[in-house]
This record gives sequence, structure tokens and C-alpha cells, in this order.
Amino acid sequence: MIAFQMSEEQMELVSLVRDVLKSEVEPLVLELDRREEQDFDWRPVETLARLNMVAPIVPEEYGGRGLDFVTTALIIEEVAAVCAGLAACMVGTIHALLPILVGGDEEQKKRFLVPLVSHKPALASFALTEPKGGSDIQRLDTHYRPAGDGFILNGIKDYVINGAVADFVTVCAGASQDGRPGAYQFLIVPRDRIKATINRRTMGIRYSNTAQLVFEDTPVTKEELIGHPDTGYLLLSQTLDCGRALIGAIQVGIARAAYEQTLSYARTREQFGRPIFSNQGVSFPLVEMATAIDAARFMVWRACYLMDQDGDYTRASSMARLYAGQVGQMVTARAIDIMGAAGYNDDSLLSIYFRDAKVCSIVGGTDNVQKMIIASLL
Ligand SMILES: Cc1cc2nc3c(=O)[nH]c(=O)nc-3n(C[C@H](O)[C@H](O)[C@H](O)COP(=O)(O)OP(=O)(O)OC[C@H]3O[C@@H](n4cnc5c(N)ncnc54)[C@H](O)[C@@H]3O)c2cc1C
Repeated sequence: MIAFQMSEEQMELVSLVRDVLKSEVEPLVLELDRREEQDFDWRPVETLARLNMVAPIVPEEYGGRGLDFVTTALIIEEVAAVCAGLAACMVGTIHALLPILVGGDEEQKKRFLVPLVSHKPALASFALTEPKGGSDIQRLDTHYRPAGDGFILNGIKDYVINGAVADFVTVCAGASQDGRPGAYQFLIVPRDRIKATINRRTMGIRYSNTAQLVFEDTPVTKEELIGHPDTGYLLLSQTLDCGRALIGAIQVGIARAAYEQTLSYARTREQFGRPIFSNQGVSFPLVEMATAIDAARFMVWRACYLMDQDGDYTRASSMARLYAGQVGQMVTARAIDIMGAAGYNDDSLLSIYFRDAKVCSIVGGTDNVQKMIIASLL
């Protein structure tokens, strides 16, 4: 049976994260949204690291919390409801860790997972997208070739979350065949070996760092290559499939924050001598927002449940990402309609939610890519 309510342990974790973030991160949110690209502020990551919540799926044997995907999604929703940029840092890190968790050997797990859950602030990056290869992931130019005891990596990755601030990057690249990439594999590259990082200025999730990464004759040891060429593409697909549901959880958090703020405004703002909520023209959109958020949340939970059961989660995860993305954008836009000028004020949190929500129609594959995946599985 699938429960539609949280266990006691889940409730405790969620309220712990909610309380700590509300007191330590929420007061910083406007300031974090306005930071310059090069000035990454570690304080919010420090808060999460203290709770051992940067990558809560890391198993306990490596020092992590060992949370399942459903509980991880609950935590991500809470974090996103306060600061979606911080939730993006988490999800970027989890993307980087999944290939190691699923396909890495024991040495790689000890070397790369343990420092990330040691209560010190640390992040990781997952680098797939390239200037020429976005939706078309068969079109990657980044490649590696044998050199001495290890490999040499060349290529450019773009729009990588945590790119300039991560301890290491899990890079998807092809084994070089006459200068063209062959079968894909993941290579783990410590930050100090990246040739150059160029920060991207993004419209939303502005707390997080997003960067272009240049790899030029970058040395990678054989201990830093994950898995086998025959399973590399499967590992990539599994990582993307799991990541999509977690991106959906970010959207649910953003939408919930926008909805809650708007509901409370509508109940207190008076026009024509009564709260604007008493007009159906205001309360009905709020009803639709609340209903859509619940539906999106349940879709995220379903996908995460299937991921935890090792079931067939590809379609459910793409549906969760697609629908939650649409809900996030619908809810944040309507929230501004309902709050009027107060919602349009750039000093309001709604302005941040509105810009943050837009990114989730792009990351983890655009909406069209989700539709292509779902269509292939209908
Ligand atoms: C803030 C941010 C953070 C990101 N973080 C990461 C990260 O950490 N790691 C990473 O690897 N990548 C990351 N990305 C990159 C993201 O995954 C890509 O932007 C996304 O996959 C789309 O690729 P693209 O931007 O190149 O768009 P394109 O692939 O060029 O697509 C452009 C448009 O064409 C449409 N389109 C393309 N092909 C088709 C088709 N066959 N049928 C119908 N429509 C089509 C798309 O839907 C889209 O609307 C991030 C992006 C952003 C904006």
C-alpha cells in the first residue's frame, strides 16, 4: 500500500529542516537573489551541511543520512519553499553522486561520498550539457583518450549547477574514437583540474552557481573513471530519470511557497470593504492552485516511490517533472495576478518564485524532451 501521509520520522525531519531554514536562510533570501555571480555565499550550504542534508540519499555506511527518494523529495520541497537556489545546489549534488552510488566501486564511494557528508559545506556537479548538445544528448563532443596510466579529457560543459564551487564534477564523456566520442562513461574530476570556469548569470535560482567548465588536456586517473563502457549510457539514463522527479520536488516547493503567501495576502487584503478572498474571482484561482500543487506533489511521490522500489520509474519521473514544472509556472503567475502591484514589486518574494519556477521547464530536459520520453512509453 502507498501511504499519502508522512511517517513520524519523515515529519520530524521535515519540521527540523523547515524550522532551521526559516530562521537561518529565509532572512537572507532577497540578498542571495541579488548576489554577484562570482560571490557564492556558503552560509545556506553550511546550514544544510550541519544537518547532513546536502545529499541525504548517501547511505549511512558512508556517513550520510541514508534517506530514500520519497523522504529526500520531502526535504527538497521544504528547502525549495524557502530558497529554490539552495534546493538546486542539493539536486545538482545528488545528480553528481548518483552515478557513483549506482556504478562506482568501493574506493570511489569512500573517496568522493564521505567528504560530501562530513558536515562541512561541500557541493558536487553533474556535467552533461554542452554548447552544441543540450536536448540531443547523443551529440556530445567531450571525449577522453588513454594517456599513460590514465586518461586525458577534452571538452566544454555548459550551464552546470555548482560548476565553479563544487569539490568535484561528474563529467559525462565519450571514449575517443578518431577524435569523436564513442560509448559514454562518467569521469570524476576534482575542481583543481578544471582548466577554466565561466560563471553564467541566470534569470532565476540565483543563489546557486551555474557555470561553463572547460576541460583541456585534463588528466584523469583510471580510479576516477566510473563503471564500464557497456553500462555508461544506462547509468546516464538512470541518473537523469531519478533526477527529474527531484526537480519536480523543487517545483512543488516553489509553488507551495507562492500559494501560501498569496492565500494569506488574499485573506487580509481588503478592497470594497471586505477581504479580496471573499470574491470567487480570487478564491477560485487559489482553489485551482492548491489542487494542482497536491496533484504535482503526489506525482513526485509516486515517481520517488517507484525509484525506491527499483520499479519502472522512467515515465512517472518524466510526468512528475513535466507536470510539476507547469504547475510551478501557473501558480507563480497567478499569485502575482492575485497580489496585484504588491506581487509585481521586485522586493517581493513572488518575483523570485516567478523567475525560479521558469527554470524547471528547462532543467533535467525541457518540457518537449519530457513529452518525447513519455510519448515513447505510452
Ligand atoms: C539554470 C540551469 C541549470 C542547469 N544545470 C545543469 C547541470 O547541472 N548539468 C547539466 O548537464 N546541464 C544543466 N543545465 C542544462 C539543461 O539541462 C539544458 O539547458 C536543457 O537540457 C536544454 O538544452 P538547451 O538549453 O541546449 O536547449 P536546446 O536543446 O537547444 O533546445 C531548445 C528548444 O528546442 C526544443 N527542442 C529541441 N529538440 C527538440 C525536438 N526534437 N522536438 C521538439 N522540441 C525540441 C527544446 O524543447 C527547447 O525548447 C542547466 C540549465 C539551466 C538553465
